[in-house]
Amino acid sequence: MSYEIATIPGDGIGPEVVDETLPLLHEAASRHGVEIEFTEYDWGTERYLETGQMMPDDALDQIVDADSILLGAVGHPDVPDHITLHGLLLPIRKEFNQQVCKRPSILFDGVESPLRGYESGDIDFVVYRENTEGEYSDAGGRVHQGFDHEVAVQSAVHTREGTETIVRAAFEAAREREGHMTSITKSNAQAFSMTFWDDVVEDVAEEFPNVEVESLLIDAGSMDLVRRPEEFDVLVASNLFGDILTDIGAIVSGSMGLAPSGNINVDDEYPSMFEPVHGSAPDIVGQGVANPMATVLSAAMLFENLGEDDVSDALWSAVREVLADDDAPATPDLGGSASTGDVVAAIEDRL
Ligand code: ATP
Ligand code: MG
Repeated sequence: MSYEIATIPGDGIGPEVVDETLPLLHEAASRHGVEIEFTEYDWGTERYLETGQMMPDDALDQIVDADSILLGAVGHPDVPDHITLHGLLLPIRKEFNQQVCKRPSILFDGVESPLRGYESGDIDFVVYRENTEGEYSDAGGRVHQGFDHEVAVQSAVHTREGTETIVRAAFEAAREREGHMTSITKSNAQAFSMTFWDDVVEDVAEEFPNVEVESLLIDAGSMDLVRRPEEFDVLVASNLFGDILTDIGAIVSGSMGLAPSGNINVDDEYPSMFEPVHGSAPDIVGQGVANPMATVLSAAMLFENLGEDDVSDALWSAVREVLADDDAPATPDLGGSASTGDVVAAIEDRL
């Protein structure tokens, strides 16, 4: 098989991790008879600072026919986050109907969790985050500006179709895994949207009689993800809550530099997009020490999504082996002093 993959290295450590990783992906794919062609797009904040746009007007047309998209990171200390979000990430997620955001959290052998007493294998859950609507729906405005007070409204939009799609994806994952699904809401305070979410979970649950369902509020759920991460299997949450949970998920499993994610178009009408959970990491940019593993694992998720499980498995195993080997190079986030390139080379050795 042969695939065309659009790559958007982006900003900060994005280009550092993506550029180092592409040859490795070529190598992993070709060993399994899979050909890939990467087309690179220079979209991001540098372009914004020059032109006022994160990406060109016809950006989505340029990549709509790609088989998949690999993104590094976007963000810049001088560019407000809402510009990077609304100028690039959200249009791609929304226009390509990438309704399902999938973010696994795994404590790998050889990695230390900031949580005491946890060992490899103890933490292994995946968060399914609703990715195109909810609290990120752009509904609202500055509705009143008086002399002495101002009012802003930000509404969350939850469609039955969107909610069912994310909830069903989570149930399907739970059925394949340990059969346990936790729905995270705030139904006690958000009496319209989150009770609707609860209704959808209850309806979809009927299709999955063997999956056990638990429901937690976001406050208690965040606490429990730190207190008893070993008990979670699949979590499902709205856009905002999922965002929060996945940063917790990334850090309890050892490093932001290890956490991959996929933005998935479930009916394959448009390309899906894979990206590390981390951002542009301005504090370490230019030092060549960013951990490339989150990007490699995101690419592994990309290959799995294309149906190339052999390539995906090879990348997962190679990363696991490097992490488990005390003598293998590790970047500073994992307590080592190796460079991005050293780690990529070590992964390549183990393919
Ligand atoms: P952005 O605004 O682009 O989201 P950010 O300020 O939120 O950036 P992140 O990129 O999410 O920052 O990084 C948070 C922390 O994790 C930083 O201290 C960063 O150095 C570290 N970090 C993130 N990614 C990596 C990586 N790949 N390797 C090593 N450390 C990382
Ligand atoms: Mg960030």
